[in-house]
Amino acid sequence: MQHLTPEQIARYASRSGDVDEIIGVAQHFEVCAGCRDRAAAILDPGTGEVSHVRKERRVSGARPALAAMSRRAQTNVAAFVMWVVAVAAVVALLMYVLLRR
Ligand SMILES: [Zn+2]
Repeated sequence: MQHLTPEQIARYASRSGDVDEIIGVAQHFEVCAGCRDRAAAILDPGTGEVSHVRKERRVSGARPALAAMSRRAQTNVAAFVMWVVAVAAVVALLMYVLLRR
């Protein structure tokens, strides 16, 4: 089996090769993990770690979502407390004004 050249992979990625070549490259990727890896390295140099991290994030997606929800809940509590304090201040001011008359 003849493996892909970096030029073929680049043309495939930019869709600048002819159709037959693009199809041939795609078919080669299907059967050749080595060229898939080389293509990933060529097209996304130094991001092998990133794709790994992305995969892990996807697997443990519920946990950050829960953390974000609890963060949002805390924000809501803070906003509610602020609102209560503001209302209490307005009520106290009204009482002060009314009682002073
Ligand atoms: Zn190959």
